[in-house]
This record gives sequence, structure tokens and C-alpha cells, in this order.
Amino acid sequence: MKLLKFGGTSLANAEKFLCAADIIEKNKNYEQVAIVLSAPAKITNYLVNIVEKNININEMLEQIELAEKIFIEIIQNIKQIKSYFLYEETKKIIEIEFNELKKIINNFTSFKKYPDNIQAIIMSRGEILSIWIMKNILKSRYHQVTIINPIENIISTGSFLNSSVDINESKKRISKININENNIILMPGFISGNKKGELALLGRNGSDYSAAILACCLNAQLCEIWTDVDGVFTSDPKKISNTFLLNSISYEEAMELSYFGAKVIHPRTIEPLKKFNIPCIIKNTSNIESKGTLICKKSNHSKDILKGVTNIDDIAMFTISGDLIKQKNNTITQIFNLLEQENINIILITKSSSKNNFSFCVLEKETQKILILLNQLFPLELQEKILNNINIIKNLSILSVIGFNISQKYDIASKIFSSLGKSKINILAISQGSSKYSISLVIKKENILQSMQIIHNALFYNKKIINVFLIGIGGVGKSLIKQILQQKNFLASKNIEIKIRIIANSKKILFLNDLIDLKNWEKAFQESKERFNLEILNKLLKDNSFLNSVLIDCTSDEILSKQYVNYFLKGFHVITSNKKANTSPLKYYNEIRTTALKENKKFLYETNVGAGLPVIQTLQNLFNTGDNLICFKGILSGSLSFIFGKLEENILLSDATKQAKDLGFTEPNPCDDLSGIDVARKLLILAREVGYKIELEDINIEPILPEYFKKCKSIKEFLYKLKEMDVPFIERVKKARNLGKVLRFVGTIEKGGKCSVKIEEINSNNPLYKVKNGENALTFYTNYYQPIPLVLRGYGAGNNVTASGVFADLLRTIL
Ligand code: ADP
Ligand code: ASP
Ligand code: MG
Repeated sequence: MKLLKFGGTSLANAEKFLCAADIIEKNKNYEQVAIVLSAPAKITNYLVNIVEKNININEMLEQIELAEKIFIEIIQNIKQIKSYFLYEETKKIIEIEFNELKKIINNFTSFKKYPDNIQAIIMSRGEILSIWIMKNILKSRYHQVTIINPIENIISTGSFLNSSVDINESKKRISKININENNIILMPGFISGNKKGELALLGRNGSDYSAAILACCLNAQLCEIWTDVDGVFTSDPKKISNTFLLNSISYEEAMELSYFGAKVIHPRTIEPLKKFNIPCIIKNTSNIESKGTLICKKSNHSKDILKGVTNIDDIAMFTISGDLIKQKNNTITQIFNLLEQENINIILITKSSSKNNFSFCVLEKETQKILILLNQLFPLELQEKILNNINIIKNLSILSVIGFNISQKYDIASKIFSSLGKSKINILAISQGSSKYSISLVIKKENILQSMQIIHNALFYNKKIINVFLIGIGGVGKSLIKQILQQKNFLASKNIEIKIRIIANSKKILFLNDLIDLKNWEKAFQESKERFNLEILNKLLKDNSFLNSVLIDCTSDEILSKQYVNYFLKGFHVITSNKKANTSPLKYYNEIRTTALKENKKFLYETNVGAGLPVIQTLQNLFNTGDNLICFKGILSGSLSFIFGKLEENILLSDATKQAKDLGFTEPNPCDDLSGIDVARKLLILAREVGYKIELEDINIEPILPEYFKKCKSIKEFLYKLKEMDVPFIERVKKARNLGKVLRFVGTIEKGGKCSVKIEEINSNNPLYKVKNGENALTFYTNYYQPIPLVLRGYGAGNNVTASGVFADLLRTIL
């Protein structure tokens, strides 16, 4: 004998009913089958809505008609697909059932809320009708059917809405039913009967429990639970990405998973199966071939300790404190007994070591009832303040991590706490299951999905994911996206995944999701209608703190650079090719560093000096290991390297500048390059990096051009006026050449921190002598590197090299 249970998701429409009937028939070819059915998806919710909300009678009847329509539509469609279906007969039954319901509703208009026994009757109609539909599908295919009435045979104790089954009594009754061995056995799930023969429900989602009970009562060899997912996953696959199917789990693990919220199985389902040692398989009606998850007795737990991450939402936490708890040992027991009597389930308990304070979590809907009960239990104690006021926090969730002997594994707890800590998610309480199968955390409900994803990734997913928020899509930003795309497979082979979450420029923003192919981002960006400004960005970053989130600034915007501190506080690393922050006044420069340190975030800006050349990292390595700068000299501007190189070839200053501009080596206005300010900024960044506390104004800039050039109103005017400087420069180049030297625009840091940028005559022994054509060169004379300096030389500008520098920084965030 095999038991098959079909959940609401497997009976949601005509096709699904027929698919379930096919599965039943196929199994019947091998052995006798017993079938437990739930109500079609959403039906119970409709019915609960009717009984729980204080809606007026007309609204109730409307809802009832909606539910009736769903059933009629299902059977109409069954008739359309299979013309042999006993449509009229089934329709009559549906109408009778709904007329009964309407009568019940009309009879109780004077009550605000229906009594529980009536609620139970209304809520159970979905299951009853599922059985009628299935019976008539099977009957029309010439199968004999025996229906077991659960009110008479599944005997339970407890409340009308949430009863527990007495298996022995139920077994006795069922054994007395005369069932032909050729018959298919059908029973509605979710329903039982109390000793008085009244209908009592087994709690929401309870037809899994019914299935387990019937399997035990019929001595079935196997209990198959058919649903809409392939089995039990490491977390709810509909909410969490990258979950894994569990091939098999032990009864204990299944119990713990379901108790802490994996709603694929009802929490009470496993206990009876375990008692009678009946294996259970969870299978998918939409993917029959999949093997599913086997739940059975297991002795070997050694492999794969971790089994899942689950959640229970809508939780309230009560904290009770006061001397009474310390003085009278049984205070807590008294509270628990009272709640148990009232059928209130305490999901989690934590107790402070000082012993005068303890907390427990319950479903939020029980809050009011518990509060009244506690006030009745301790009226004087609360008045006299030997029990302090009861503190209640609502809108909470419980997140649990389930696995065998989990509490013994130090690295699991540390991964859980550190991953949440990094994402700035607060934990309100912690509890380790006494069974050693779970660790549970109480957190705000608003954080639950994000926390589950974070913890699931940290525990189950080896991949390191970097979430990128990219601002600025000029040349560098665009090249960066291209490089990330190009490297996707290579990085995947190293278990690294870069997920670009947003791309923005000063006006617009594009949110990337699974539907947008990054390859087509430019088109998607053009089509995006989302506005962008700092306020929007700030809100977005607040709501999106994934683990390993990085803000990349590829703009030259000063206002954005002033926000970095905020971004660290929101849990982001910051990578920037924008020099504004590092050349801002020292106060902000320092604040950035102290905040990043405090928040344990990285601030990376390798491309601020020398683009992709490894300047900053090299300097940091030297100075972290005890080296000291004696002197620095460098050519820090690609455009000036080009222009001064050309002067040697007897090209006029104005022509060389024009050529540099045409090749894209200069700023839009070449006056900005020739002013020397950009070189001064880079020098400032280097000087600060080696510890000199200086401001931009402290750098002595010897301008290349006289002051009056600054007054030029247009680029054209500037380039025209520049011709005036051609002759003086021919003279300077000639003079240098006569001494065997060349002209270079050099930034210098002397010992003590004195900094200057100016044109220098360089002789042929100097490493800067040969540097031209847009190359940069940086020479560091240090304690370790002297008399021959450490030289870094290469292209120090250009979109590709700068983007690759940003990319390298990005990968450093996960190292
Ligand atoms: P049914 O109607 O078949 O009883 P349920 O909706 O009660 O179906 O249960 C199946 C659902 O349980 C799945 O669709 C899935 O979203 C959810 N679920 C929650 N946690 C898990 C988990 N760990 N593994 C699989 N499914 C889960
Ligand atoms: N139909 C009931 C519910 O939705 C029982 C079940 O589906 O298991 O709770
Ligand atoms: Mg279910």
C-alpha cells in the first residue's frame, strides 16, 4: 500500500487535477493506493478570509461565490479536456455544498465572529469538494473508490481549528472499515473528528499531517507528498536564489526544518511517520521525473551537516523581567503551562544569565490573548512591580539554520553572525535548539528575506558574489562593464561572480535584474525612465545592502565624493577613479579613512594616480612593511608627457598641444592640463599616502604658461594664444639640449613633505629622461630603494587601463 497526498498547488486547476489522477492511476497498476487531497490552491485562504475578517454579510457571500466559481471553472475545464467526466453530477454536489455554506453564513449574521466549530466547518469545504471532483474523475475512468470520512475515523483532541490526532484510536477505527483491495481509497486532508464526532481541523497546511496519519493507519510502505517543487530545498526556492535540492534527510532534520518554517511539510507530519518507520518522499507534480527528497531513518549524519535556512514571519517577542523570575523558580513554568493550556505555541525561548529576565516568541496574532492571560495570572505582581511591565516587540521573524549537530560547529555560527553583521542587520535574540539541530535568530521582519539570502549564500554557496553599484558611464565606466563581461567565465572558474545591480549617470539610472542581459545594457539604459540624483541613490543604497556591496565612482563629481562616508555607514565598500575625495581638505580625507576602518569597509582608489599602474598598492606595501620615502620624482600626466616629448622633436608647443587634444590625451580644455593642477592633485594624493599632512595649497605649482592664459574665454582662443609661447619654448628646449638635457614636467616630493610641480631639465641618467608619448613614470627613492630608485613606468591614462585598475580594486574587496 502506498499513500499519495496532493497539495493545493497540485490541484490548482483542471489540468492539475487530471495530472494527479494520472499519477494515481499509474501507481495503482503496482499496488493499492490511498489518496489524501487538500483544497485547490487559494481556496482555504478565501474561506479563512471569510471567517476571520469582520466583513459584512454581502461581502462574505461575494467571497463564497468567488470560491464557488473557482470550483465550477475547474470542473468545466475538466469536462472540456475529458468529455467523459461526470460534470453534471459533480456540479450538483458543488452547488449543494455552497448552498449549505451560504445557509451557515446567513444563520450567523448577528455574531461578529463565527464560533470556532463553525469556522472549522466553513474552512474545510475545499478538501471535501476536492475529493468529490477526484472521485468523479476516477469513477468516470471506471475505478472503484472508497471514501474514508475523517470526522468518523481520524480522531483528534484539541481545538476545533488546530487538533492533534490520536493515532491509536484512529488506527482502530480505520482497521474496522471494510475496504476492497481493488479500490482506490480517498480521504480529504486537513479534517478530523473529535470524540464527540464534531469536525476539527488539523491546523493550516494540515493535510500533510492527515496523509502521514492515514499512511500509519493503513500500514502503508511509503508516503508520497506531491507538491509544486522538486522536494525539500536548502531554503524556500520561491524566495531565495541558488538553493539546492536535498536528496535525502532524516526524520529529525525534516521535523526541525518544518517546525521552523519550511512549509513544504506541515510540522506534525513527520512524528507519526518516524514512529511507524514509514519513509516519505516529497515530489513535484510539474516535474514527475525528478527523484524528489526522501525523508527516512538515517544513522549516518556525517556528510553535509547543513540542511537549510528557514523562516517564520509575523512573530511577536515578549520579554518579562523582574525579581519574581529570580525569586520564584516556577514563574516561567507557570507561564508556559498557562500558554500550553490555551493551545498557544511558544516557538522560541531565550533567558538571560542574570536570571531575572526571559523572552519568548509567539505568532503575532496571539499577542492580545497572551497579554490578557499574563495580566490575569500575575495581577498583583505586575502592580507591585516585582514583575516589570511586559515588553512586546512585534513585526519580527525567526530565521533558523538547520543541520545535524549544528551547535557543535563553531564555523557555522561565526559565518551566520559575521555575514549579518557585515550587512548591518541587527539580531534581537538568539536561541540554540536543545535538539542540537538548529540555531535560531530573531530579527526584524523587514530584514528577513535579505538575511536568509545572505546566510544561505554564506553557508551553502561557495561563490563569492560582488554586488556593484556603478555611478558614471563615461569612457572608464563603459570599459569597466565591458571588461567585467569579458571576464565572466574566467572569474566563474575561480568561484567569483560580479553582479552589477545598478548603472547610473548624472541623470538616469538602470536597475539590472535577471531579465536584463548585461550585454545589452546600453540599450536598456537608453530606455530606462528612472531618474537619478543623490537622494534617490541614498535611498536605494539604504534598501539594498547585499553582502559585499561596492559603490564605484567613475565620475569626477565633487558632490558624490562628499558622500563616501555615508556609503561606508550603509555597508558599502567604495572604489573611485574620481580624485576629488582624496584631494579634499584633510579633515574629510581622514574621516573617510577612519569611517572605512570602523565599518570594516574598503576604500580603494588605485586609479587616482597613474591610472592602472600599481602605484598606491605598491606604496602601501612598502610603507606597511617599514620603508620610508626619501624623495619622489615623477611624470604624472599623460598629456604633458606627450607634449614635452614632442617638443624634443622640434614640434611647436601649440602644435604639440593640438595633436595631444586631437588624440584625446588632454582634458576637454587643454588649458586644464597645462595649468599643472591635475599633476598637483596626484602629487598631493601620493604625499598624503606616505604620511605628509598637507593640503593642495601647500603644493608649489610653477605654471607652464603665464597667468594671463587663465583669462582665455574659449578653447579656440586659448589654442590661438598658445602660439605666443612657441618661441620661448623653442629657446628653452634648445638651451636644455645644449646641456644634453630634455624638458619634463615633473612632480617632486622632498623629505619633510615639501612638494612642487614644475618644468625641469633632465639629464640622460635620470629615469625620466626617456619618458614621453603619453607614458607616466614614478621614481621612488626610499630607504630600501636607493641609490637606484623604484621605478613604475607605463601608460598612465586611457579608458582601458583605468578601467582595469578599477576592476583590480573591485576584486580586492573580496580578498
Ligand atoms: P502544497 O499546496 O502542495 O501543500 P505548500 O505551498 O504548502 O504546497 O508547500 C510547498 C511550498 O513550500 C513550495 O512552493 C515552496 O515555496 C515552500 N517551501 C518553503 N520552504 C521550502 C523548502 N525548504 N523546500 C521546498 N519548498 C519550500
Ligand atoms: N487546505 C488547507 C490549507 O490551505 C490544508 C492544506 O493545504 O494542507 O491550510
Ligand atoms: Mg502544504
